Amino acid sequence: MNIEFKVPSSSSDSDYLVTICNDEAGVLVTCSCPAGTYGKLCKHKLQVLTECIEDKQVVVLDSDRVSVCDMLQDTEILALLRAFSAAEQDLVRVKRALELAKRNLEMALRGKVEHP
Ligand SMILES: [Zn+2]
Repeated sequence: MNIEFKVPSSSSDSDYLVTICNDEAGVLVTCSCPAGTYGKLCKHKLQVLTECIEDKQVVVLDSDRVSVCDMLQDTEILALLRAFSAAEQDLVRVKRALELAKRNLEMALRGKVEHP
């Protein structure tokens, strides 16, 4: 079973094709963008997976209603996606802490002390 999603390219007028393929080998997700064709985790794959999971998106395929979320249920993809998202949130927190530390150091170097 193949489910295809058209995702607009951010750098050109073209669309990329993200395909979620579910067969006896398991679930595979591919994208036609340059990074995706090398098997990299591109933003298009992430966008499709995230939208499918957050919106509980149901795709009608040959008159069958297919839930991408259900399709991923028996795989480790959902857990890995959650881990990725958590790591991204950690990164945002660390970036904020770094900015604050930088600002405090800048202030101290100018003779002003800021208490967080
Ligand atoms: Zn892509």
